[in-house]
Amino acid sequence: MELYVTGKPLSAWRSGERACRHSSVIECAERGPFWKLDDDRWLGNFGSLRRLCQRVAGYSKGDLMRAIDVTLGLSWLWIFQAIAQVSIDYTVSLPAPQTQTVEIRCRFSGLTGNILELKLPVWRPGKYQVLNPAGTLYNFRATDEDGKMLKSRKTDKSTWSILLGGSSGAIASYSLYANSLVDRTRHVDDTHAFLSGSSVFLYAPAFRDQPIRVHVEAPGDWSIGTGLKSDPTNPSVLLADSYDILVDSPLEIGKQSRHLFRVHDRPHEIIVWGKADYDPSELMADFAAIVEDQIDLWGQPPYERYVFLIHVGPGLRGGTEHLNSTIMQTTREHLEDPKLYKEFLGLVSHEFFHTWNIKQIRPAGLSPYEYQEENYTPLLWLVEGTTSYYDDLSLARAGLIEPKEYLERISKLIDAFRRTPGRRVQSLADASFDVWIKFTHPTPDSPNRTISFYSKGALVSLLLDQFIRESTSDQHSLDNVLRVLYERYPLGESGYQVADVRAVVEEIAGVSCDTFFGDYVEGVMPLELEAALSRVGLKLDLQDESESDEETTAGDEAYLGITLKGNDVVNVLSDGPAYAAGVMAGDELVAIDARKLEPDSLTKQLKKLGPGSEITLTLFRRDQLRHIPLVLGKRPRGKWTVSVSDSATTEQKAAFKSWMHQDWVFEVTAPLKSNLSEKWNP
Ligand SMILES: [Zn+2]
Repeated sequence: MELYVTGKPLSAWRSGERACRHSSVIECAERGPFWKLDDDRWLGNFGSLRRLCQRVAGYSKGDLMRAIDVTLGLSWLWIFQAIAQVSIDYTVSLPAPQTQTVEIRCRFSGLTGNILELKLPVWRPGKYQVLNPAGTLYNFRATDEDGKMLKSRKTDKSTWSILLGGSSGAIASYSLYANSLVDRTRHVDDTHAFLSGSSVFLYAPAFRDQPIRVHVEAPGDWSIGTGLKSDPTNPSVLLADSYDILVDSPLEIGKQSRHLFRVHDRPHEIIVWGKADYDPSELMADFAAIVEDQIDLWGQPPYERYVFLIHVGPGLRGGTEHLNSTIMQTTREHLEDPKLYKEFLGLVSHEFFHTWNIKQIRPAGLSPYEYQEENYTPLLWLVEGTTSYYDDLSLARAGLIEPKEYLERISKLIDAFRRTPGRRVQSLADASFDVWIKFTHPTPDSPNRTISFYSKGALVSLLLDQFIRESTSDQHSLDNVLRVLYERYPLGESGYQVADVRAVVEEIAGVSCDTFFGDYVEGVMPLELEAALSRVGLKLDLQDESESDEETTAGDEAYLGITLKGNDVVNVLSDGPAYAAGVMAGDELVAIDARKLEPDSLTKQLKKLGPGSEITLTLFRRDQLRHIPLVLGKRPRGKWTVSVSDSATTEQKAAFKSWMHQDWVFEVTAPLKSNLSEKWNP
């Protein structure tokens, strides 16, 4: 097999442009950023080849450089030999934060060659969506180190090319409008600057592995919170060993509250931007309990110091994991209300779990990150779903929520999953692979065609955990699988493949996992959660959600199959009669059987009508009134609820203890109610 290397579009190759051939036996990923040409040759770009080189024994960096050198007619080999002499400094300044603008200067010294190419990533790690932050970059200019202008031009949406003209240094400067708080990329105002490196700092691909110094020039009463080290002689100068470290160490600069605690003799910082009335000692104790529980699972912390960055503000939610820090966003209420606070702890647990699961062990395809293109893996469910499984489990194991609260959380997850028609359509592997075009680009039709790799991933992780526990009489678990992956696939290498995961599971479980992965990961077979929960003394069934806390009510209820916001149709579910009758997303419901539909009264009206009732829906579609006759469907009454089995055996209780790290503590068997909000966004 021959591999062609190009930094150019595929179309240029198809037009017969001259190419260098580098003969080598290459095993290409089943799915990856490679193109198969008509004549059985493979084409990969620089990024994909770089990944490939790390996977294929006997194919060295030197081979790669020679291939590219000849291919593109550029002196790449020579540039790489000169890397050690290049120094890189960035300056962040905030002369007018009230304009939500940050000024950046990137200085490259010791350059050789004619051209310096700079890029801004098109996405940020942790959010698998092309965000194109270069859209808010302005006033790009380039000079040499004496201030003399250098010619530059933009060569694609995120790339600038600077003609050095014999200069050994270049300074690129630009302004960035920073008003993207909720995607956790960049936000500046008169109280702070939050800067996530991949959306802020240009980089030179040729020098991505070089150390970087970042000078921060901020108002005098602002502080810097970040996982980066600072220069011992100047705390305003931050040090990153490489661009990848900088990207994975967001900066929170501003007026902030800071709380310090130690676990395993390592410093941990909580840094809060925004106001809330919380108890710092409670916060530190609870964070420490999460840290201790998860270090206990993984074996050791992969950091010297860890920083929890928190943004508090209306409507904020979700978080992003980074190398030795996380940025979490929440509302004031989530820090003040005891019930909501426990939800917030779930977010803390989730993001901290990622410190290992993605920040240390990564699927192939995400290791190393390629910043200018989508990064594909069928294993994102193991990154996000498994983390979602452990976030609440860790809280329960650490004693931060009661086991019955844990059961409420998985009940909600299961109920939502079993009401999503897309569970019969999209597999976990496909949901992972297509995250860039489906999960992060939802449509009203998404519930019919897709599933969340967060929620199904969490449920499959629960099943996998119980599968291993069952196979080994509770001697081993999914915990062991994670620890082995952590040992075998260290950060900096090419990451684990699907076959690696399956091999480790089989090694730990001692039995074949072909059926498990075939059914639940590659396929769309129903998840046998009842059996898995039963082995730890729990039952899963439909329970009535009425106020009376009565036992399960048998029978069906009328089903239309739509979700509403007010009276506007948001989704039309493919398993309901509205779908077949032609109700559409965007329709505004007006009446059922000529009777006005008050906002939020649909459920009540449907309860009065039995399954099989013939009704006429009246609605506005754009500005036209429509009448749609249909026959109401039926669905089982109640919500899927996990509760305690009255007849749990000694063995089941022992299995529960092994799993939950707690004794069987249940006193009551009443149905548990749930009003938790949705899981975390990436
Ligand atoms: Zn996550």
